[in-house]
Amino acid sequence: MTNTATVVACSDCGVFWYIEHDRPACNAEGHTHAEFQVHVHLSAVMLPDGTEVNAASFGARDPYTRERPPDFGLYFDPKWQPPWPYETYAWPDFGVPSDVVSLFSSLDSLLGRARRGERVELGCLGGHGRTGTALACLAILAGCPRADAVGWVRANYCSHAVETAEQESLPLALHV
Ligand SMILES: [Zn+2]
Ligand SMILES: [Zn+2]
Repeated sequence: MTNTATVVACSDCGVFWYIEHDRPACNAEGHTHAEFQVHVHLSAVMLPDGTEVNAASFGARDPYTRERPPDFGLYFDPKWQPPWPYETYAWPDFGVPSDVVSLFSSLDSLLGRARRGERVELGCLGGHGRTGTALACLAILAGCPRADAVGWVRANYCSHAVETAEQESLPLALHV
């Protein structure tokens, strides 16, 4: 399921807010405000070997409302503090993590949980850059050729997934 939300950004203050849920973060006269649509993902993704994982954006309101809560979550942004068991992994927005080896081992253990029948979730904020890159790595661990992984995620999850050239090259470093 992919919903969209409207975000307003003030380019003078460098702040943004969700128009439906938040109070305006800037009311200053004369500031330039722009509205844009963003995806709010809560998407089931079937990996190439048939294992299912769930990918989530951090929704502005009720970020933890689920039809069925996950058994375990792996999140790449410290905003996530869900009521179910989880781990957060330090990964700067629009960047790549410094310790790639430990990222791959976290993803490998997440995949192991999913294969054992646990309901697992991963997420960042928008659900595209870091989550998309992590999904590309999971696809490789599940049998996708490394060179095809980013294209696979864009075709099977969201065309906006994986945001920077640095993120695109991260799955290529994964040895399986
Ligand atoms: Zn402003
Ligand atoms: Zn999307």
